[in-house]
Amino acid sequence: MKFADLHIHTYFSDGTDSVGSLIKQIKPLGLTCVSITDHDNVDALEEALVLFEKENIELIPGIELTAEYNQQEVHILGYFIDHKDRTLIDKLNFLKNNRRERVRKMIEKLNRLGVDISVENVLNIAGKATIGRLHLAYALVKEKKVSSVSEAFRKYIGEEAPAYVLGFRFNLQEGIELVKKCGGIPVLAHPYSIKENSLYKIIESGVEGIEVYYPEHTPYLVNYYLSLAQKYNLLVTGGSDFHGELKPDTKLGLIKIPYELVKNLKDAKDKR
Ligand code: AMP
Ligand code: ZN
Ligand code: FE
Ligand code: FE
Repeated sequence: MKFADLHIHTYFSDGTDSVGSLIKQIKPLGLTCVSITDHDNVDALEEALVLFEKENIELIPGIELTAEYNQQEVHILGYFIDHKDRTLIDKLNFLKNNRRERVRKMIEKLNRLGVDISVENVLNIAGKATIGRLHLAYALVKEKKVSSVSEAFRKYIGEEAPAYVLGFRFNLQEGIELVKKCGGIPVLAHPYSIKENSLYKIIESGVEGIEVYYPEHTPYLVNYYLSLAQKYNLLVTGGSDFHGELKPDTKLGLIKIPYELVKNLKDAKDKR
């Protein structure tokens, strides 16, 4: 049997691993195929396509975009995207700056709340990455303002918390179209995070797949999403959403999906 893990972050977004260190960890797991799906970022892909091929591991170039439907955050995975697409790169550059401004605003809010944390500090942690809340959470842990990443989200930067600032979100249709425009297959990420009454509308708005297998999905949810996939003729994907040390509970290969599902994705891509 061959297996795949189709949801992995690197240090180009809010993971902590380089491509090389991912490969080292993936080899002993016996995965045949993986996808790197950084938030709003494709910087890992050029190098990864070369290095993974050398190791005989199939790499699906991917991305994870943030969109919204009915004011609700929806993550869209894009598989087999052309990471050199000009429209995509321009959009990602815009998002990179936008995310930096957003983090600055969150830090201002934190400072006003009496939490002493500096912009430089957080920018240093992010390095060349497309910055996000996980970097800010990590800075708060490092500066001993909270005792864990999850406390940082609960107390300060989670959606309901006082230092939260809304980031840029594609309109759902727009996010899906961007993935398609650069040759990708748009897939609804971790549907457990979507409110039940929006799920049908989101599925009907043009995604071609659904991430059925995911660490937070119980067997009941997996069956439910499989039934939706069948009903709406959607591709089925899955992955661990690995973020390295920033989310220590999630291990690489925690989710291993049968390679058959990757074949279906590839067939869909070939039919374009
Ligand atoms: P951002 O795109 O900057 O809003 O950050 C979103 C990312 O933060 C998600 O993809 C997760 O990786 C992470 N995240 C969101 N909520 C939590 C949480 N409660 N605990 C840990 N990580 C979280
Ligand atoms: Zn993330
Ligand atoms: Fe996500
Ligand atoms: Fe993710």
